[in-house]
Amino acid sequence: MEIRNTAVLLAAGRGKRMNMEGYKQYLEIQGAPLFTYSLRTLTKSSVITDIVITVNQGDEDHMLDLVRQYGLSEKVRAVVPGGAERFLSVYEGLKAISWPCDFVYIHDSARAFLDGETLLRLDRTARERGSAVAGVPSKDTVRITDEEGRAISTPARKNVWIVQTPQVFRLEDLLPAHSMAVQSLEKLEAEGIQITDDAMVAETMLGIKAQMVMASYNNIKVTTQEDLPLAEAILKGQSFR
Ligand code: C5P
Repeated sequence: MEIRNTAVLLAAGRGKRMNMEGYKQYLEIQGAPLFTYSLRTLTKSSVITDIVITVNQGDEDHMLDLVRQYGLSEKVRAVVPGGAERFLSVYEGLKAISWPCDFVYIHDSARAFLDGETLLRLDRTARERGSAVAGVPSKDTVRITDEEGRAISTPARKNVWIVQTPQVFRLEDLLPAHSMAVQSLEKLEAEGIQITDDAMVAETMLGIKAQMVMASYNNIKVTTQEDLPLAEAILKGQSFR
């Protein structure tokens, strides 16, 4: 039977660190809103069959208009409001999937420069291992410190990965894991645990050890103004349109 993979494209949140008017997901780079770049890659890829987009409450129609305007509505099955935190937006996206789905590909729209080859590698690994998380080996040495910044340990660089998205899990794993995380929110906060990505939810709630997959150093998250010249440079080196 053919495998069906849904991408959950995260385009909620305010992008406060960008320090700009409006939301960064709609910021125009080379004539197109930021989110359209990864949406185009997901749409073109044979790996992805369906797409759900999470947006800020009240932004649904605006997003749908843009999706149509840029000719990217082919696989978009739903546009839903996200939540106050990234992982709550993921949860809303997962709950909106009402069509057949084996694997979910959670992707930050702020990572505009996702490429099709990475999606193929994630697909291969997810089928073999049940999960796949995009990332790149760290080029820098990473040091773990105490609260005062004093060194505690230095992990071997070959085992240190910089974690990106897409993060791929079976829907039947990630949906209950998120539901459990939402229910244990107070407990997690009391323990000082801050959920930063989907692999952390799967690991904390279900003990799933996600398989890292080599992505690309171009797969940056556009986060601050300083990232914009780099984003333009990456775009000039690629043909998205
Ligand atoms: O703010 P940051 O860039 O770390 O967010 C990562 C991704 O998560 C972005 O693509 C953003 O749109 C999304 N997000 C979300 N819901 C939130 C916060 C962030 O969908 N509440």
